[in-house]
Amino acid sequence: MADTKLADTQQPAASQAKPQEPAADKAAGSAATANAKAPAQASTQRATQHRDHVPVFSLEVFPPKRNAAVGTIYDTLDGLQGVDPDFISVTYGTGKQSDRTATARICNTIRQEYDIPVIAHLTAQYLDEQGAAEALEMFEQAKVRGVLALRGDAVPGREPAGVFDHASDLVAFIRRTHPDLTIYGACYPEGHPQSVSLKQDVENLRTKVDAGVSHLISQLFYDNADFLNFVQMARAEGIDVPIEAGIMPVMNVGQVRRMGKLCGARIPHTLDRMLDKWQDDPRSLRAAGIVYASQQISDLVAQGVQGVHLYTMNHPGITRRIWQNVGDLFEVKEQTA
Ligand code: FAD
Repeated sequence: MADTKLADTQQPAASQAKPQEPAADKAAGSAATANAKAPAQASTQRATQHRDHVPVFSLEVFPPKRNAAVGTIYDTLDGLQGVDPDFISVTYGTGKQSDRTATARICNTIRQEYDIPVIAHLTAQYLDEQGAAEALEMFEQAKVRGVLALRGDAVPGREPAGVFDHASDLVAFIRRTHPDLTIYGACYPEGHPQSVSLKQDVENLRTKVDAGVSHLISQLFYDNADFLNFVQMARAEGIDVPIEAGIMPVMNVGQVRRMGKLCGARIPHTLDRMLDKWQDDPRSLRAAGIVYASQQISDLVAQGVQGVHLYTMNHPGITRRIWQNVGDLFEVKEQTA
């Protein structure tokens, strides 16, 4: 997902007081020490009992902004009760204001207090090798299941470190320094906005996978045909790792139009009509958005995708309603010998 979402869609600070993460846990390198509150949710059955099933269902959350109450993440995580993901991934902020330790701390909270496996995102273009090594050390302490290795987006006024020019450089670094860590990568069903063509982007993706990626998660898209076409192209290029489809529920008109511009996500006719009809009626648009995302997911599962990654945007209510619609499609069937 484009980094801008980290800034644009942050929920306001929670009105009620929530348990704070302990002060000691805020320091870099102490990510594995948090234990502020008793587990709110039993361990996810899918994740702990069946490691190798398909389709996978996972969620993405992002750390609260620096000036937001840190406890808002508990609103999100508590609100996800009843949803049964294989793992939750936690984004990494690239902006100047971003807290370098937030991703590791939240990963640790999710794993330790909610007993759900976690994936940490890491963007690398502003890091040197020492910075990347420190981040990976924090993730190791937080006992993450894997790292989503990213280049990241350019931040105006910030000069890249010039060490990790592409995500594949970070992938190779992790493979060399942490051979046991599972490495995830991002992919773009409609092509990355900076690539000349989808074909070229898929060729670059092959380089990234060859460097050591074992699982891909896609950018959001609104037309399943784009994702299915992309998967075919990736397979033809020799990319044979699992590819999870990234789904972002429609929450408001501005969000969809912005994502269209930022990520190049095409807005199909049906979605365009929804946006027009309910542009001044947020409640109806949100309800239609839940149906739209649920239908996308149901169709993708019917088409045999290997996984669905839901961008929660830290809106647990919407995530829960989608899970109520599609959760049964992810039920893990008993393995027969
Ligand atoms: P790359 O894989 O490096 O690709 C970027 C561009 O370079 C592409 O056009 C590609 O074709 C080209 N390229 C790649 N390798 C080569 C090569 N060897 N030679 C020439 N060209 C090459 N951003 C955040 O800031 N924080 C997050 O937590 C975050 N999470 C994300 C999660 C997902 C699932 C996705 C899809 C995106 C996420 N993003 C996040 C956004 C991401 O950082 C941007 O999309 C960024 O512009 C590209 O990152 P990348 O890792 O895909 O880059």
